Amino acid sequence: MTTFNQNRIPETSHPSQRRQFLERCFGTSCGFAATLLLAPLAARRAYGQEKAGDVLGKRPFGRIEKIGDGVWALVSTPFQANGSAGDLSTHSNGGLIVGTDKILAIDSYRTRAGCQFMAEACQFLTGRMPTHVVHTHFHFDHLGGTRGFLQQANTPEVIMTQTTRQLAFEAYLKTQDDHNNPGLKTSAIEKWGGNLTDASMIIEDETKPLTLDLGGRSVTITPMSGHTSSDLVIFDQKSQVTFAGDLVWDGIFPNFMSSSPKQWIDSVKTITAASDQTIVPGHGSVCQSNSDNIKKYRVLLEEIESHARAEFKRGATDMDAAKSFQLPESIGDFRYFRSGFHEIAMAAWYRELKRK
Ligand SMILES: [Zn+2]
Repeated sequence: MTTFNQNRIPETSHPSQRRQFLERCFGTSCGFAATLLLAPLAARRAYGQEKAGDVLGKRPFGRIEKIGDGVWALVSTPFQANGSAGDLSTHSNGGLIVGTDKILAIDSYRTRAGCQFMAEACQFLTGRMPTHVVHTHFHFDHLGGTRGFLQQANTPEVIMTQTTRQLAFEAYLKTQDDHNNPGLKTSAIEKWGGNLTDASMIIEDETKPLTLDLGGRSVTITPMSGHTSSDLVIFDQKSQVTFAGDLVWDGIFPNFMSSSPKQWIDSVKTITAASDQTIVPGHGSVCQSNSDNIKKYRVLLEEIESHARAEFKRGATDMDAAKSFQLPESIGDFRYFRSGFHEIAMAAWYRELKRK
């Protein structure tokens, strides 16, 4: 890893900022646990009395759940009741792992406003802000909101792989017509409501895991691939929690746009190999590695593969393969961020099959 900036130990939060968060919570009945709100700061700093699975706060776009000691997930809820897209301020999931010295945020969501929800929760829970943000991959819904962590002179280290940085710059810095403002051009990521924040720590060796000592706990950051050509998986030894990024999806049909599907299946096998771990998927609910949800997800990936292979073999086009693909009944309903995801999945498999 190349470090361009010195690591900074965060300053204690300004009391008025904590107050602001509390008031906002009361004002909007955000549902932060009453025990936490009433607890003295010292107790809150010890992460309150809440148990894993407790919902700490809620917004229309997502909720913050405690999933282990010093570990929280922001679980996005981007669908309306009828299954159509709802509030996409966060769009993807992310999390926080809190050590005595450093706080690692996993991903920064789609927009600054979405990311601010996690920043405020971090401030509320620990009196501090994230010192490091790691990006699981380059997609806009996982890195557009980083500015939400830049508050009160807090400048977290932004960690990504060399490949992710390159892909993000290629994809999101090009400009296009701004449909809301004729004559103006915006960058591709601004179209999605985000901004691109550059890395300050770049993982150059994408072949082996690295360890980040947060103080009292260390996390392993493992380069993998499949969803994109460069994915990072974050594992916290102490809580046995894995943040899988978009290598794992729960109940939502995955986006194969930038994928290498065979490699993706291999990565999922590795991530879900241990039976008793908590997995935070990139989209959907937090799962146990041996849960039905994870089994259904693996069945889905395998069904997509076998359908693509069979159709390819008999000479069907990828678009025909997409038309004839049906979700296996055994996995129940999956949601879709938009139409066309079967086509994208088959196109990805065909790219791979044609290479052989
Ligand atoms: Zn993604």
